[in-house]
Amino acid sequence: PQPVLAVVGRPNVGKSTLVNRLLGRREAVVQDTPGVTRDRVAYDALWNGRRFTVVDTGGWEPDAKGLMASVAAQAELAMHTADAVLLVVDARVGATETEEAVARVLRRSKRPVLLAANKVDDQRGDADVHSLWSLGLGEPMPISALHGRGSGDLLDAVLAAF
Ligand code: GDP
Ligand code: MG
Repeated sequence: PQPVLAVVGRPNVGKSTLVNRLLGRREAVVQDTPGVTRDRVAYDALWNGRRFTVVDTGGWEPDAKGLMASVAAQAELAMHTADAVLLVVDARVGATETEEAVARVLRRSKRPVLLAANKVDDQRGDADVHSLWSLGLGEPMPISALHGRGSGDLLDAVLAAF
């Protein structure tokens, strides 16, 4: 079976945009309004000749427990079912209490965790990225899911993590 990458994060940080970028095609549905439930969340991806599965956890959000609890529950499920977890943060917003709660969950993960600082569309955004070191999940990787900036490096890091 091919390795599984779960993409977690708050609504609207760009998870589905990133999943499409990783797939090289538009399959995950991008929403301008957060919280739309999707049936299908697992997609086949290929990078450098290696196949893997990408799971867009946006299909699980949100529920009655509230945003923070549901995103933390996503992360909990992801780290028990995926081979690696990618936490996506909107670098323009920075780490909110939701990311801090998710990071507390993910720091206990026995599986590798990667941290993507999304919406860094140009180098002016690079300064926003450093504060995300405080999540204790290692180096934040600046990316623009929308424009593709940093996505090759991210894919290399994902494959190295499996
Ligand atoms: P999700 O709820 O986390 O799956 O987020 P979506 O992928 O649906 O994206 C939410 C919004 O953020 C959409 O309007 C996207 O176009 C926008 N977005 C996603 N990635 C980027 C990015 O890298 N840069 C910018 N500027 N906007 C982005
Ligand atoms: Mg989504």
